[in-house]
Amino acid sequence: MRFTIACPHCGARGIARAMEKESDTLWMIDFQCDDVTCGHTYRTRLEMFPPETPIPRREGGVSRQFQFLV
Ligand SMILES: [Zn+2]
Repeated sequence: MRFTIACPHCGARGIARAMEKESDTLWMIDFQCDDVTCGHTYRTRLEMFPPETPIPRREGGVSRQFQFLV
């Protein structure tokens, strides 16, 4: 699959050239305009949303059910 986003300057298609993983839910993707007379390169951010899992993981196996707010 080719990932494209229209160039903001000339409207030609921009093609994803490089992908850099920032975290488990965040990627930076570099695009390059396919029009050689424009040649604009731009960076986009792809963020997964929501970042948390539907069922929160327990931390360290310690039960939190006996914590009360005073
Ligand atoms: Zn362009």
